[in-house]
Amino acid sequence: MAEQVSSDPVVQVGEVQEIAPDLVVIPDRNVPLVPNIGIIGGKEAVLIVETGMGPSNAEIVLKFAEEHARGRKLYLTTTHFHPEHAFGAQVFAGKATFLVNQAQADDLRTKGPGYLGMFRGLGDAVARRLEGVELAQPDVVYGQAYDLDLGGRVVQLRATGRAHSRGDQVVKVPDADVLFTGDLVEAGQFAIFPWFPPHGVDVSGTRWLAVMQCLAAEPPRVVVPGHGAIGDASLLADVRDYLTLLRDETWTRRDSAMSEGTIVEEISALMIQRYPEWAGREWLETGAKCLCSEHSV
Ligand SMILES: [Zn+2]
Repeated sequence: MAEQVSSDPVVQVGEVQEIAPDLVVIPDRNVPLVPNIGIIGGKEAVLIVETGMGPSNAEIVLKFAEEHARGRKLYLTTTHFHPEHAFGAQVFAGKATFLVNQAQADDLRTKGPGYLGMFRGLGDAVARRLEGVELAQPDVVYGQAYDLDLGGRVVQLRATGRAHSRGDQVVKVPDADVLFTGDLVEAGQFAIFPWFPPHGVDVSGTRWLAVMQCLAAEPPRVVVPGHGAIGDASLLADVRDYLTLLRDETWTRRDSAMSEGTIVEEISALMIQRYPEWAGREWLETGAKCLCSEHSV
């Protein structure tokens, strides 16, 4: 992650969006390293999805959630362990039950410290947000699937298997037909491939594509991406189609024994032409390299 981030990744609750009854999103406002954060209410309990980066952001999220909950029990989950999604969980200790899938709990424990160091190197504003971070232990860990009853509303937590990270999960709210994807989906941005061998090799383009094929096959009404504007099921199809093109174009070049450097150059040019309005062009190189490594696997 060589790209420096100069903006302050601060969560702001001034423009929350109610996307269904008792289901609000604190939007990322297109600020880098701020995630879309969900607050999902039932009669008895409220589930918070994502913490924001670091304790100061998590305090903002917790305060908003407590005001929204008005005495209802609180749960917290995160879509994956990356810092802006999960590195504020300590603030919820004793206030909310922190619930995640096993693979994500493993990621947080084994990869969390390394990511903390790496992200502190992204710039002063990010480093300040990460001050005082202590990696939290989940209260409840499940394997593949967990149905959380909030009282008159059951939320489906589903581990997807390795894709953007080893421990991705999605959060479905069936009665409102809403899906929280975490970084499996970004709106208006190239898929984030944290492919940094030899240590950062958890992301898998082929598995990610398989996950997107499954998710797109059951299109929900509303998709809340990890970053970027809330949309409909077309966001799922967009990522599926992009990953398909990235795989096919990368592997075609690999088959012709083209060097990795030339593949990266050609793939980058091709994708920028195909998706001129998308941000995150730095993820084209890592995406192509990741798929090179998965060629003929
Ligand atoms: Zn991520």
